[in-house]
Amino acid sequence: MGCFECYEFRRPKKTEEPEATAVAESTEQQPPPPVTETETTTTTEATPASVTTEPEPTESKPEVVETTTAEMSMPEIKSKDSLVHKYMTEEIWNKYKDHKTKTCGFTLKQCVICTLELDNQHCGVYAGDHDSYNDFKDLFDPIVLDYHGLKEGFAHKSDMDPSKLVGATSEDADIHSTRIRVGRNIEGFGLSPGITQTQRQDMEKLMIKAFESLEGDFAGTYYPLTGMDETTRQKLVDDHFLFMSGDPNLILSGMERDWPEGRGIFHNEAKTFLVWVNEEDQLRIISMEKGGDINGVFKRLSEGLRLIEDSIKKNGDRVFSLDPKLGYITSCPTNLGTGMRASVHIDLPGWGKEGNDKLKARCSELGLQPRGTRGESGGMTGHTYDISNKHRLGYSEVQLVQNMIDGVNKLVEEDKALKTKHGL
Ligand code: ADP
Ligand code: MG
Repeated sequence: MGCFECYEFRRPKKTEEPEATAVAESTEQQPPPPVTETETTTTTEATPASVTTEPEPTESKPEVVETTTAEMSMPEIKSKDSLVHKYMTEEIWNKYKDHKTKTCGFTLKQCVICTLELDNQHCGVYAGDHDSYNDFKDLFDPIVLDYHGLKEGFAHKSDMDPSKLVGATSEDADIHSTRIRVGRNIEGFGLSPGITQTQRQDMEKLMIKAFESLEGDFAGTYYPLTGMDETTRQKLVDDHFLFMSGDPNLILSGMERDWPEGRGIFHNEAKTFLVWVNEEDQLRIISMEKGGDINGVFKRLSEGLRLIEDSIKKNGDRVFSLDPKLGYITSCPTNLGTGMRASVHIDLPGWGKEGNDKLKARCSELGLQPRGTRGESGGMTGHTYDISNKHRLGYSEVQLVQNMIDGVNKLVEEDKALKTKHGL
């Protein structure tokens, strides 16, 4: 699914463009939260013909792409409220417009295609490869600082040591399930918007080896999307395990090129450790289970991540893309840093009566974010909420999970008083 923070909270507006209108209307959006994410791109290979007029570079010779005269000037940005609109200048455009990144031959125009074509973007930019963040830094840097509320000179530090967590979610919390996911990408391959078909195939092969090396509680099966029967696919989606195609941002940004080839899902036997392959990020690594043991879920994630990291090193001499400043590299700048979203599906009937807007505001004060339980584009219904960390960059994983534990306990305490207030 597309990046929640990038556009989810924006209500679509009507546009003149039939194409963009269709896309915008298919997402449910509302006013932007203080903090948000995105998704982006276009590619060196089969970019959707509807969204680009550039000749496609071939994998072997990305440098042959020519820009037409019409594209020499800065194109109109449709998403007027986007961070791209805020920070793109003629100077930046002219400085970078002819540049192609080394890993995928990615261009500035490809990075910002969603914001050119759609009017509902908050962030509006994706990176096609790790290089994009450096090569187009005059655009990416201010957007990253603005989005994550950071100041120049910040540095990101990862810490996934579960023994540092203090306390646990309250016994009184009515938590159905807990899930923590991180986005990871492998250095040397393009990110989903720019990854070439060959890179995607190689990446999947490497992951198949990594999955085969998992043992004990982590041992499981990889299910490629290619050839998956419809009943299996639908069941995996219904059980909240599998991603789907069709997200307008992902399509427009080039992330669904060659679908479903190279995509798949791995899960262990207990379905508590899952890995999505080649969706919005090359890897979404997920630990989840019923109940509210967030400490246990974090511990499993931390161990599983290390096993995968060790395997890609051993089997392919590869490492996760990790930037000294930006932390773990992800295709959407809103996920940079930890790439982590830790969530609980929790009943908050008192807050349900109080109203979603008040809950959103309270969550924001606590460094949390509420959404509906059917994924980012599902909307909020009933009084079961998905509560997760609002921040990704500038805080360690331990800090963010600790904040989840403390914040969720606070919401549960407040919910008791609200239940009394509303006579529940
Ligand atoms: P993300 O993009 O962070 O992975 P989404 O909101 O797109 O998250 O959700 C992806 C899937 O994970 C959806 O099917 C959603 O219902 C499921 N999910 C998220 N959090 C939980 C949770 N705590 N328990 C069970 N399922 C969850
Ligand atoms: Mg998602």
